[in-house]
Amino acid sequence: MRGGRWTGQACDHSRVNGPSPFCRATCVRCLRPQATCLCALVRPTAHRTEVLVLQHPQEQRQAKNSVALLRLSLAQCEVVVGERFAPEALQALLQRSGRDTRLLYPDVPAAPAPPTAPGATAGAPLRLVVLDATWRKSLRMLLEHPALAALPRLSLDAPAPTLYRAIRAARRADQVSTLEAIVQALAMLEGPSFDAAPLLDAFGRFVAGVAARQRPQGSTGQA
Ligand SMILES: [Zn+2]
Repeated sequence: MRGGRWTGQACDHSRVNGPSPFCRATCVRCLRPQATCLCALVRPTAHRTEVLVLQHPQEQRQAKNSVALLRLSLAQCEVVVGERFAPEALQALLQRSGRDTRLLYPDVPAAPAPPTAPGATAGAPLRLVVLDATWRKSLRMLLEHPALAALPRLSLDAPAPTLYRAIRAARRADQVSTLEAIVQALAMLEGPSFDAAPLLDAFGRFVAGVAARQRPQGSTGQA
C-alpha cells in the first residue's frame, strides 16, 4: 500500500487543516460536506416553470434538506437564503423574469390568499416562489413580507403521501418536503410533459441515506 504523508481517513481536502479524523471539506457543487455529497443523485429533469426558493438559513444547514438535490436537477431553479428581505431586494427577486408569479402556499386562516387574481395566460410559463422553512417559520416569513403575501397562490390540491416522514416528523398532515411539494406543483402546472419519476426515485434514495445515518445515533426519536 502506498502511504501518504498523513494518515487521517483520506480526504483530499484534509490537507488544508492538516490531519484530522473528520473531514469538513465541502462539495463545491451541492455545498454539502463531502461525506453527504448528494451530487450522484442529481437527475436533470426538464421543466418550463421557473422556481425561486427562499430558503430559511436554518434549512441550509440541515443534513436532511433536499433543496440542493432539486436545485441541481432543475435547470431553472434559484435558491436564495434569507429570513428577512428588504422590500426592494425582494421585489427585484420576484419580478426578475417578467413572468406571472405564483406563491406555492396553502390558503390558510392565518394567512389568507389574496383575492383571486386574473388567471395567467393559458399555457404561459409561470414563476413559482417557494418558502423552504418549517411550517411556523414559513408562515412568519409570509406575514413579514407583504410582497409575498400579495402574490397569487398556488395550493396543492391533495398532497401526495410523503417519503419524508422517515426522517422528519411532519407537523401537519399535509406537510411534505419542499422537493416533493415543488415536484407536485410542477406536475400540476405542466401536466404529463413533466416527468419527475427519476428525481423522486433519487429523492427516495436520499431519504433512505439520511435515515441510515441517523439510525446509529441513539434511541428512537422523541421530539
Ligand atoms: Zn456534491
